[in-house]
Amino acid sequence: MSLRSRSICLFCGSAEGRDPRHMRLAEAFGAHVARTGVRLVYGGGGVGLMGAAARAAYENGGRVLGVIPKFLAAPEIMYEDIDQIVVATLHDRKRVMADQSDAFAVLPGGIGTLEEAIEVLSWARLGLHAKPVVFVDDNGYWNGFFDMIQQQIKAGFTPPEFQNMVSRVRTPEDAIERAFGVLAAA
Ligand code: AMP
Repeated sequence: MSLRSRSICLFCGSAEGRDPRHMRLAEAFGAHVARTGVRLVYGGGGVGLMGAAARAAYENGGRVLGVIPKFLAAPEIMYEDIDQIVVATLHDRKRVMADQSDAFAVLPGGIGTLEEAIEVLSWARLGLHAKPVVFVDDNGYWNGFFDMIQQQIKAGFTPPEFQNMVSRVRTPEDAIERAFGVLAAA
């Protein structure tokens, strides 16, 4: 078993964001995933952080699978150079992305990124999957989200063990290591 047999699903913004560090992180993430041999599974668009990560992965010789609903192919400027699965709905997109992946990475993004991340976290909380979920940011972008989880734990709505299902790292290297453990260290 090697990293080449593994896939990581990326959730991140379809916008570029105002802080150029976010685009740099997306590019670095895509390039690193390509170098490790892990396949990148993402939303299939050519725009924003998602497009930057996918292009960086593809241009560095990586394997990339896009999963895009037909109605978003134009607005999200479907990235034509890579393998794509075109689906009907957003629900289909999330299902296929999850089925095709062994772990999830979350980079900065907006409400869509949050929705996708929260679904995989709530499914982990219910024991429906045990795939690692790793948030990646190098400037505290997700602080507020992790504060919210702490608030839920303090208030007794989320069990403390939930923290074992979600990690937070600063670099793409740490994300792959956290997602794939000994395989990444080998
Ligand atoms: P955003 O973070 O809002 O830029 O969205 C990031 C990506 O999530 C975009 O490709 C959106 O099309 C996608 N997205 C938003 N909501 C959903 C959803 N409910 N299911 C699947 N993908 C979604």
